[in-house]
Amino acid sequence: MISFKNVNKWYGDLHVLKNIDLEVAEGEVVVVCGPSGSGKSTLIRCINRLEPIQEGELVVDSMAVHDKKINMTKVRADIGFVFQSFNLYPHMTALQNTIIAPVKVRKMNKDEAERLGREMLVRVGLEERIDHYPAQLSGGQQQRVAIARGLCMQPKIMLFDEPTSALDPEMINEVLDVMRGLAREGMTMMVVTHEMGFAREVASRVVFMDEGQIIEMAPPDDFFTNPQTDRGKFFLKSIL
Ligand code: ADP
Ligand code: MG
Repeated sequence: MISFKNVNKWYGDLHVLKNIDLEVAEGEVVVVCGPSGSGKSTLIRCINRLEPIQEGELVVDSMAVHDKKINMTKVRADIGFVFQSFNLYPHMTALQNTIIAPVKVRKMNKDEAERLGREMLVRVGLEERIDHYPAQLSGGQQQRVAIARGLCMQPKIMLFDEPTSALDPEMINEVLDVMRGLAREGMTMMVVTHEMGFAREVASRVVFMDEGQIIEMAPPDDFFTNPQTDRGKFFLKSIL
């Protein structure tokens, strides 16, 4: 579903992604971890070309994202993106927030979009909050609306960039539970997170990045119990 081949990216003079090779198969859950500034956000933002790459090949669901001529609208429609900050429209209810993209991008009619929006809000456990505004929702609930909004586009891939790091501790699990459910249902996911319990349970592989490079890539049990590099060992000590 996602293939990085020798991908390099710079911000000006700053070389932020260095020779990235990574293949993500359909249904895989890849957790990306590493110190702050190591390039994790940049790595996943390249997948829907929120950031362009300068070198290498990046193919997503058979579409060449590295090719400047390709129309990204179609690629992006198939990729759900959930950020640390939920970015909901404050003047719209949960349901209204979930149906904008299906109506605007997928040209779905409003009734159908609303039916889908309700279904997805129920799926993330918010059947009681469908007509609430973001200000009436907790952080965990807002993040679940953001996930429902992504799911309404019926994506093939879901990307998560530290989806729980802005949440109070007691709300982290309700969001991770929704993500666990998606993983069980076979969604292809890349998740930047330091929630190592989540990684151990659902990740098919863990990617450890440092200074723009993939330093380690292994099944979670191997990475957590037996990191191969000093940087990996040091990182794990710092977060556990
Ligand atoms: P992470 O998500 O692992 O913390 P990022 O991908 O956000 O790392 O950042 C990688 C490096 O790129 C950091 O040094 C960061 O300061 C730099 N960076 C991130 N975004 C930009 C940008 N838009 N312009 C210039 N430098 C950036
Ligand atoms: Mg980041």
